[in-house]
Amino acid sequence: MKRQIIDTIEKYDKIIIHRHVRPDPDAYGSQSGLKELIKANYPDKQVYAVGKHEESLNFLAQQDQVDRSFYEGALVIVTDTGNTERIDGEFYTEGDLLMKIDHHPDADPYGDVKWVNTSSSSTSEMIYSLFEEGRESYGWKMTTDAARLLFAGIVGDTGRFLFPSTTVTTFNVASELINFDFDRTELFAGMYEVKRELLHLKGYMYQNFTMDDNGAAFVKLNKATLEQFGVTASDTSQLVGALGDVQGICAWVIFIEEEDQIRVRLRSKGPVINTLAAQYGGGGHPLASGASVYSWEEVEEVITKLKQLCM
Ligand code: AMP
Repeated sequence: MKRQIIDTIEKYDKIIIHRHVRPDPDAYGSQSGLKELIKANYPDKQVYAVGKHEESLNFLAQQDQVDRSFYEGALVIVTDTGNTERIDGEFYTEGDLLMKIDHHPDADPYGDVKWVNTSSSSTSEMIYSLFEEGRESYGWKMTTDAARLLFAGIVGDTGRFLFPSTTVTTFNVASELINFDFDRTELFAGMYEVKRELLHLKGYMYQNFTMDDNGAAFVKLNKATLEQFGVTASDTSQLVGALGDVQGICAWVIFIEEEDQIRVRLRSKGPVINTLAAQYGGGGHPLASGASVYSWEEVEEVITKLKQLCM
C-alpha cells in the first residue's frame, strides 16, 4: 500500500493536500508534514496544503491558497478525515485522482486510493511510516520541519502519549522524531498553554458536571456560560479530556452551544461511543468521537443513550 502511495505521488507534478474541518494538530501535522516531506524529496513538484486556517494553530503551519483551475490533472490527498462531509475545501473531487490517508474507522470509504489504519495512534504516525517506506525504497529524507509537524500530530492525538491508542510504535516514532532540532518546549506551549479564562471554565466544568452511579457523565456549556467566561466554542477543545481524570468515570459528553448547533463531544474509557455519535450524523474513533445536534431535547436523548452504554 505504502509503495503504491509513493509511486502515485511520484507520478504527479501537482499535489493538493486537504484535511478535516475544525482542524486539530493531527490534521495539520499529517497534512503539512506530508507536504514538507514531498517538497523536500521532490523539489520540482508543486505541493499545497489547503483549508480554512485555524488561528490557534498559527504556531504549527499556515495554509495555502489554490485556484480551482489548479486541480485539473492534480493528485488530491485527504489526510485524517473519515468522511467526505468533514473534508475542508470544496474542490477536492476535481483532481485527477483522490487519495484517502486516515486512521479513523472507514465509515465512508471515499477515494480512488485508500490507506486506512485504525490501529495507528494518529494520521501523523501513518505519515511517518510512509516516510520509512520512502527512506528504504526511494531514499527519502526527513526534515526538521516535517519532524516537528508529525511530532505535534502524534502528541495531539495521543493526549501526550496518555490515550490507549499509544503503542510501542508510537513511542519509537516519537523517539526518532525528537532527534530533529525543533523546539519542543515552544511546540508544547503552542499546544497546551491555556488562556486563564479557559482555566476558570474548567473549574466551572468540574463543579457543574453530572455523573451517575455507573460513571456516565455530562456537562452543558451554553452560549451564556461561554460568554460569561470569555471563551469561544473552539477554545473548549482543550477541555474535553479533563473529565477523564475524574475517579470512576466511564464515558462522558460535553455539549457546547454554538450559533446554529450544539456540538457533542464524546469520550469513553470503555464502551464504544462512535456508534452513538453516528446516530446523530457524527462519527470518530471508538473512544473519542463527536456530532452536532440542534435542540436541547436531542441533548437529553444523547445523555440517556450514554447512560445506557455505561450500564
Ligand atoms: P473532537 O471532540 O472534536 O475532538 O472530536 C473527537 C473525534 O471525533 C475526532 O477524531 C473527530 O474527527 C471526530 N468527530 C468529531 N465530530 C465529528 C463529526 N461531526 N463527524 C465525524 N467525526 C467527528
